[in-house]
Formats: sequence, C-alpha cells, structure tokens
Amino acid sequence: MKKFRDFNTYFKLLILIIGTSVLFFLLYVVLYIYTTKQENNLYKTTQNQYYNEVTSIIQLHSKTPISTIIDVTFWDDLKNFTESKDEKWYNTYVASQFETYEVDYIGAYTVEGQFIIKTANSKIKTKDFIPKEVMIRLYQSKLMRFYMKIPEGVVEVFGATIHPSNDPKKNKTKPSGYFFMARLLDQSYFKNIGNISSSDIKLVALNSASNVEVDALEAVVKLKDYKRADVANLVFKRSFNLHFKNTKQILIVLILASLINIFVYFYFSRKWIYKPLKIITDVLETGNENSIAVLKKQPGEFGYIGNLFEENNYQRKLLELSKEKAEESDKLKSSFLANLSHEIRTPMNAIVGFSDLLNEPNLSDKSKEEYLKIIKKCGINLVSIIEDLIEMSKIDSKQIAPNYKGIDLDACVKELYETIRVTIPNNKELELYFIENEKRIPKNILTDEIKLKQVIVNLISNAIKYTEKGKVTFGYQINEKDKTIEFSVKDTGLGIDEENLKVIFDRFRRIEDEFSVELSGLGLGLAISKAYIEMLGGTIRVSSKIKVGSEFIFTIPLIYDESSPVQNQIDALNVAIKPNYETILVAEDDNINFLLIKRILELKEYKVLRALNGQEAVDMCRNNADIHLVLMDIKMPVLNGYEAFKIINSFNPKLPVIAQTAYASFDDYEKIMKSGFTAYLSKPLDKEKVYELIDSIFYNRIL
Ligand code: ADP
Repeated sequence: MKKFRDFNTYFKLLILIIGTSVLFFLLYVVLYIYTTKQENNLYKTTQNQYYNEVTSIIQLHSKTPISTIIDVTFWDDLKNFTESKDEKWYNTYVASQFETYEVDYIGAYTVEGQFIIKTANSKIKTKDFIPKEVMIRLYQSKLMRFYMKIPEGVVEVFGATIHPSNDPKKNKTKPSGYFFMARLLDQSYFKNIGNISSSDIKLVALNSASNVEVDALEAVVKLKDYKRADVANLVFKRSFNLHFKNTKQILIVLILASLINIFVYFYFSRKWIYKPLKIITDVLETGNENSIAVLKKQPGEFGYIGNLFEENNYQRKLLELSKEKAEESDKLKSSFLANLSHEIRTPMNAIVGFSDLLNEPNLSDKSKEEYLKIIKKCGINLVSIIEDLIEMSKIDSKQIAPNYKGIDLDACVKELYETIRVTIPNNKELELYFIENEKRIPKNILTDEIKLKQVIVNLISNAIKYTEKGKVTFGYQINEKDKTIEFSVKDTGLGIDEENLKVIFDRFRRIEDEFSVELSGLGLGLAISKAYIEMLGGTIRVSSKIKVGSEFIFTIPLIYDESSPVQNQIDALNVAIKPNYETILVAEDDNINFLLIKRILELKEYKVLRALNGQEAVDMCRNNADIHLVLMDIKMPVLNGYEAFKIINSFNPKLPVIAQTAYASFDDYEKIMKSGFTAYLSKPLDKEKVYELIDSIFYNRIL
C-alpha cells in the first residue's frame, strides 16, 4: 500500500485541510447531539419536578377543607342535628361559619343517605348532587376526597361521616350521618393555585388533545371521581427558559460554517495550489512551453517559478546548442585533420616520388623538366595550404587589420583577370570573362588591395575549380547611391544545394558530395574571404542551383582616395627585363635556401656574396662598397634581419635591402615595410618574382 509520505504535496495538503475540517465538523455535530440530549434530560427532569410540585400544591390546597371537615364531623351537636334536623341550630352554628370553611357548598345527610340541609354561595345552585353510592363508600372509609361534574362545572368534594366527640378517630361508634363540602374549580380557584405555582391553569376535557410547547413546562393532573375514574384534566403550564436554543443555533451555524469551510478550502486549494502544482509537474515531466507560459501568469511564487523554468529552458537550449556546436566542431576538426592530412600528403607524395625519379641516371631532359614542374607545383600548393592556415589563425586571434591605400580598381582587376586566365587547366572547356565597366573610375579607391585581390582570386579559383564546362564571369558595379562597390563571380558549375549554402562560409566546411570530395581544398577559402570582406566593412552572399551554377556577390564600401591620381600599374609592369652584372649580398643562414637563391641569381648573371648571419652582413656591407643590393633573411643568428638592416641603413641609407622571410602574412609585410626595407620577398621564392623585383629596384621602377 502507498504510504502517506509518497503521495503528492497537494494530496497531502488536501487530506490535512479536509481532515481537520471534517474533524471540526464532527466535533460540532457531536456537541449538537450532546446539547440536545442534555436539553431533553433537563426538560424531562424539570417536567417531573414540576408535576410533583403541582400535585403537592393541589394536595396542600386541600389540606384546610380536609382538616375543617374532620373538625366539624366529631361534634356531638352535629350528631344530634342529624336526628333533630334542627334548622335553627344548623343556621346558628354551622351555616354562620360557612365563610370560614373556604368552600362553595356544604351539605348534611342522614346515615341512610337522606339529604337534610345545604349551604352554598352563589357559584353553586345545584343541591343534593352527592350520589348515594358515595355515602355507601363513605360509611366504610369515613373520609373521602374526589372530583365530580355538576352543572356549574367540576367540583372538588370532601366528605366525612359524623361521629360523637368521644370518638375522634371514628372507630368506636357507627356513623350518625354524612357531611360534605365542595368547591368549584373556577377562575378564582385557578388563580389561587396559579399564583402559588407560578403557572397558567386550565381545566381540559378528557378527550381534548394538549399541544405541548417546546419552551414551556406542562403538568397534567388527572382529576378522579369517587370510583377513581377520570373526570377531567387540570393542565398546568409554566414557561421553560432554561433551554439550549441559542447554544444549538450557534452549533448549527458552526456546522454550516465548517461545511462551507471544506468547500472553500477545496475550491481555493485546487485553484491556488493544485492547478499550479499540476502545471509544475507537467513542466518537469515534459518541459511543455505552453504550461510554462500559463505558470508565468500565476500570481506570486508560482509566477516566479514559471520565470525560473523559462530561464532554465532557455539555458538548457543554449547548452544543447553549445553541445551540438561542440560536437559539430569536433566532427569538423576531425574531418579537417583528415582533409589536411590528405591535402599535405598528396603534394608531399608527389615531391618525394618525383625527387626520387630525378636521380635516375638515364632520365631525359624532357622528363626532368616535367618532374621539376610537378615538384614546383606541389610545393606551391603546400605553401598555399600553410598560408591559409596561418591566415585563419590570425583572423581568429584578431591579429590582422586592413591596410588601406589608394588603388586603381580597374587596373587591379584586369591584372587579376590576366593572371588567373592563364591558370585555367587545359582539360576544362571553360571560358573566363571579365565584364569591364564602361565608365572608368575617376579616382583611386581606398581599400586593402591585398585582401581584396585575395577574395577575388579565391572566388574565381573556386568557380574554375567547381566548373567543368561553360563559363566563369566576373565584374563589379559602382553603386554611388549606396556608396558600395559590388563584385560578382558567376559560374555554370556544380552548384550548391540549399543545406550547404548555409554553411559554406564556415571554416573547414566542404561539401561532402562525390564531386567536391574529389577536388582538393581545406574549406578555408570562403571563410577567409568572408572574414576579409567583413573586415573591410562589406558583406558577401551566394545564390546557387545544383547543376546550374553559383553566383557569389560581395560588396566593399566605396571610398575615393582624394590624395593620388590613378596610376597605370599595368603599363609599369610591361618594362623589359634587362640582364645586369651587379653584386648582390645574400644574408642567409640556411644552406639550402642560400643555394636556391644563388642559383636563381646566377641564372641572371648577378654576382652573389653570402653572409651567414646579420653581423656578417653588416660587416660585409661596411667593408665592401661594390655591394649593390642586399637580400636579407629576417630570422638569423647573432643579429636578426631587422637589427642588421637598421645598422646598414645607418651608414649606407642608399643601399637597397630586400627582406626575405618565411613568415608569409600581410602583417609581416607591414612590419618589414615599416622598418624601412626597400622591398619584401616571401619564401618559397618565386624565380620570376625575384627577377621582377630586382629589376624594379635597379631600374627605379615603382613597386
Ligand atoms: P575549398 O578549399 O574546399 O574550395 P572553400 O571555403 O573555398 O574551400 O569552399 C568551401 C566549399 O564550398 C567547397 O568545398 C565547395 O564544396 C563549395 N564551393 C565553393 N565555391 C563553389 C562554387 N563556385 N561552385 C560550387 N561549389 C563551391
């Protein structure tokens, strides 16, 4: 069986409340019954007492006539009178005393029962109404008291036998005659006894029903005739104030109140406790949000609990979301690592494999050239992977900021077009179109050129990468009204489904379908592009349809550079490269790197000197006036590139010094250029870029 403590709170409370209410209800009912019984008992006892009191009063009231009749009837003269019937004597000695007898009638009879004489007042006119049978009985009993009916009403009759004075006990002699006294039970009689007993008195016929009143005492005295048969009833009534009416009324009110109390408790405990508790249980079991809303509307503590639940739900959702995100990012990380491993292993495999093949003794020049091309391409791929990773981590740690400068946007985009166009693989039936602006931009645009180019290159490269056949179109629009420049890159490639459209700008996100998986990539390009564009104050969006193509559109703010005129950089790039015979000092601690630079420079017949650290570079520059250019590695022992450059610059400020470093980010470029270096080359070195840069320095070209 279920224990009490296992029931729910509301049920316990209800049992407690209803239990106490029922207890009080029962208490009041018991009290009511007890009071009623008490009242009945008291009434009965009082009634009995009253009856005794009334009968005693009646008897007491008869005492005087009885003693009078006893006195009168052992009197020698009265005995003689029954024989002489001397009316004169009677009048002188008996009738004259009538008033003192306090009765309404007296009468004398001979022993044979013959009426002799009577005296009566005005109340009783009837004479000789005593039946013969009474005298026969009286002869034996000597004294009688009884009631009888006469025409005037009911009378109380006292009768006695007459004896001589020497026989006061009436046992020595035989009766000589009979003497009767009677009194009428009329109003004055009732008044008399009524005053003594503080009652209302009524004479009631035998068959009339008496109606007993609750708040009155009633005593019925039966009046008997000489045969002990009932003549009439004498009803005494007295008000009875000692009852419990008020107490009972109060108890009834209390009983009703406790009943109402039970209903009121039940109703309000349901409304105020049961319902909110039920909602709480529901919320706890199901987390139902509608129930929380209902609970919140409850006044007082339950409303607060509702708020708490809502807050808790919100926190739980946040937690679930964070958990999902954490799991997602964990998955992403694993897939990124697998991807990264694949992306690094593939080119590394080629590099190691083809480097091995280069050792083959009978290798033709054509094959050698082909292998070298592959190794170079793979190397470039690896570098670009590392660059992307470093860039992303810098974006994450907010280490990069835009570097604004004025650029000729038309020229810049055209240059990009030319550069990218040649990279389209020959096996693709793909055309790259640049939609030129009809109107030339009057002024330079203020933006971060490197980041902008990087974004455009990323988007066009993707478009080429994910399009087998068709065309890739790109261009831009100036929106003077919105003060934005809107770039678009559109392709007729694979397209992206809706699900993936939402996530492709997230880092390490790649579409995991059969086509995309085949194509290499780390899933960082779009994330970096988005970060760059947002850094420049723009937005990026994409629309796409599977197997139809995609369009990436991004904007950057339109800010004119008021300070400089448009420069035609493309023209500047077209200057012919001339061979020269200058001396170049290469400050480089790593032997392989030095070998590579030396080979590159010697191909153009430059004279190459080497310094193994920063200090050596300073010394050589100080002691050798023939050095025309320094290629300074940044990370070197003894003195690093910055320190060495600072010293060299202090004694020979005109000597051009190019920094070369493996830290390939834009920030490094910034730092190097701020330090005052003439130019900057990032490792791995691109042969053509090296020549171009050296030429630009020797022939005073603008960089
Ligand atoms: P990835 O290095 O994989 O190319 P990106 O961040 O540049 O990384 O692109 C993320 C994913 O978006 C790609 O893996 C590819 O599935 C999808 N994607 C990007 N550009 C295009 C495009 N032009 N057409 C179809 N899919 C594209």
